[in-house]
Amino acid sequence: MAMRSKVNFKCPKCGATVEAEQWTAVNGEKNPQQKLKILEGSLFKAACKNCGNESKIGYPMLYNDTKQNYMIWLVYDDEEVKHVTDYFKKSKNDIIEDENGEVVDTDCRQRIVMSPESLREKIMIFDSGLDDKMIEILKLAYAKEAQRTLRDDTIAAAFFSNRDGEKQIEMYTEKGRAFVSRVSKNIYDEIEDKYGGKASYAEDRVYIIDDVWALNLLRSMR
Ligand SMILES: [Zn+2]
Repeated sequence: MAMRSKVNFKCPKCGATVEAEQWTAVNGEKNPQQKLKILEGSLFKAACKNCGNESKIGYPMLYNDTKQNYMIWLVYDDEEVKHVTDYFKKSKNDIIEDENGEVVDTDCRQRIVMSPESLREKIMIFDSGLDDKMIEILKLAYAKEAQRTLRDDTIAAAFFSNRDGEKQIEMYTEKGRAFVSRVSKNIYDEIEDKYGGKASYAEDRVYIIDDVWALNLLRSMR
């Protein structure tokens, strides 16, 4: 399996040919430059050399980190989700080898995400030594709190980030406003005490840990 390929497309602004690099597999330790580009967002963008216009390019990718023991598939539609889910389920039973013939550790955390932003977020959560399930619950709590301060606007998205060791939740509203709240270790620990034991809930969705997963968990505990 080739890890890197080149694609050409027409610049939507000026029509010139843009050449872009696509990485189908990135290993956090072996490809530190590509990891950095995922965290910056630049691995999923290509600039036109003629007019400078920047295009978003979406393509599937397997990101893995054997040291921290996790793998994340970035895909874009339900059919791809099904493929990866089947692969993960199979890997629980079989010995799976990766493209280099190395045996994949099936105890590793396996996740599916559906946007480059979510991939970036998962990497930052796992590299911070945190549990993404607890972070999803924490994000709901922070968004609810921030929503109270808004009169005519709605929190539309929330992301965990770790900037130079500063763990925070970034929230964006429908009208484009942004909020940042620092993650409190006390609140994280409280959530872990309360919900940590329920982490295996919703086995069929266990690869997609997002706000829907967290809402379902909270509903099931009412
Ligand atoms: Zn252009």
